[in-house]
Amino acid sequence: MNYEKLGFKCGIEIHQQLDTETKLFCQCPVNLEDEAADAHVERFLSAVAGETGEKDEAAAVEAAKSKKFVYNYYKRNNCLVEIDEEPPHNMDKEALNTALTFVRMINGEAPDEIQVMRKMVVDGSNTSGFQRTAMVGLNGKINVEKGSVNIEDVELEEESAGIHERNENKAIYDLNRLGVPLIEVGTDASIKDPEHAKQVAMEIGMLLRSTGKARRGLGTIRQDVNVSIREGSRVEIKGFQDVKNINLLIEKEVERQKNLVELGKEFQDSLADEIVGDNVTHHFEDTENHIVSTVLENDGAVYALKLPQMTGKMKQKISGERYLAKELVDYAKTRGVQGILHTDEDLENYGLTKEFQKVAEDFNKNKEDVIAVIAAESSQAKKAAQAVRKRARQIYTGEIPEETRNAEQDFTTSYSRPLPGSARMYPETDIPAIRVTEKDIEEIDKNLPKTLEEKKEEYTEEIGEELASQIVSSPELQEFEQYKDKYDPKLVANFFTNLKANLKDQGISIDHLKEGDLEAIFSALENEKIQKGDLAEVIQEMEEQSPENAIEKVISSKTGESEIRETIQKVLEEKSEMIEEQGMHAQGPLMGILQQKVEADGATISQILQEELQKRVD
Ligand SMILES: [Zn+2]
Repeated sequence: MNYEKLGFKCGIEIHQQLDTETKLFCQCPVNLEDEAADAHVERFLSAVAGETGEKDEAAAVEAAKSKKFVYNYYKRNNCLVEIDEEPPHNMDKEALNTALTFVRMINGEAPDEIQVMRKMVVDGSNTSGFQRTAMVGLNGKINVEKGSVNIEDVELEEESAGIHERNENKAIYDLNRLGVPLIEVGTDASIKDPEHAKQVAMEIGMLLRSTGKARRGLGTIRQDVNVSIREGSRVEIKGFQDVKNINLLIEKEVERQKNLVELGKEFQDSLADEIVGDNVTHHFEDTENHIVSTVLENDGAVYALKLPQMTGKMKQKISGERYLAKELVDYAKTRGVQGILHTDEDLENYGLTKEFQKVAEDFNKNKEDVIAVIAAESSQAKKAAQAVRKRARQIYTGEIPEETRNAEQDFTTSYSRPLPGSARMYPETDIPAIRVTEKDIEEIDKNLPKTLEEKKEEYTEEIGEELASQIVSSPELQEFEQYKDKYDPKLVANFFTNLKANLKDQGISIDHLKEGDLEAIFSALENEKIQKGDLAEVIQEMEEQSPENAIEKVISSKTGESEIRETIQKVLEEKSEMIEEQGMHAQGPLMGILQQKVEADGATISQILQEELQKRVD
């Protein structure tokens, strides 16, 4: 794909949650845990006319989708600030310092004065109806192999409440996440191609993690992608989390825009005017189709549209496995309708042949025309039919709507809502502006952290490239740095990466180990008092007693084991002929002999026997 020729334009916005002690505008802890809500708060929100006198289209769609908002309140992570019953406190210094550090890492400038602003949000994801955000840097630069990209601005803002559940009548949000500090990094639109976007996104993520204050885990970093081609339109894909596949996401979106543009060229614009639509409920009144009859019994209606010359096209793939009809179905869904039935699919199973026949006659359907039908509650069906009709017209003209889209599992995208108008911002009068002096910046510059890339290079000399690369991306990087000069750095790095993973597979966590525990473990491993294989036992014993005693206990139990092993080895030596003949099958008879000779439980004997026998058979 020649992206330059396509007029490819792309910018990304990265949102990284910070792992500070407290939230951005209150003293609640950032550290979130999966737990049940302690209380619920209900609010209503409706779209209001803005300064221009027009309702924001995005606001109107949201308001049409959800009428009531319910907020799950968590005692541990929430106070009156999150439910908007108390003004915000001053901005958290640790978060601000982290954001400014990042700004300087990308050679950006910090403003002299940081002013917190209120950005209107309409989907209910903030109890106050706005998000607090502050511009903390601008004019930065990211350099990657495929070329440098400018960072227009860096914001420090409060994380929104996470959506818990949404249906037609209400949206339920979790308040625990609300107020967690979030750094937003936006590039300009100069990204050249999908691979370039991936390099830029990975680099920004790496730099953010290099501050040592990035939260980890699912959903803690999200990417918004703005992408278009010359004949297409700007589309914003929201909340993508799988940065390693961001190139695939962008490739698929370009493919969709390109195919829709080409499809538009196959049609003549005039066909857009030949779309006819009407309420055709009367043709379905005696239907035997159970779904449609149930809909009609519940104040439902059936709307139909004629889509000229669309036969054979509805199932045409436009990106990945995604086919054209989905472009229409997405729009129906935003009006609360499940789907569309149409004549470009096999309708036999629905038992609606007769009904479709009557609609076709009404609409003077040609062989190439498609009849599409929407059955739902009357007002929903009507609105859905209007939305689908509007979207269908654009298919004939090849116009790609500017819109916000969601990423799907297969990296295609689906329509979610219109692009929001440029966000309205007002100064947050509850929080005084923060001065940033030259001295503040000097202080930050003096303490700029090494990037993870730099650390990786440095540690490669000590522990090899593979371990170095593992440890710099591990959450225990700081612990590694704490112990690496006191003990064998390879051993320490291996402990926090591979050994940790092995232990986790056995259901054992190292997260609770204290400094003394870790020192005792490293020392015992280094002096070969214990082996890696003993770690599970040692860590379990540490829950009961001091680290020294735990290690002693495991060592003494092993002494017993080494005696057993010696006896087993002796027996195997005596029976070497039998082993030669029978191989691993000798295990059964040998077990019988050993149980007479060795004082130990069957499981222990069996395990050692198997290990020793394996050695001989190999
Ligand atoms: Zn709070």
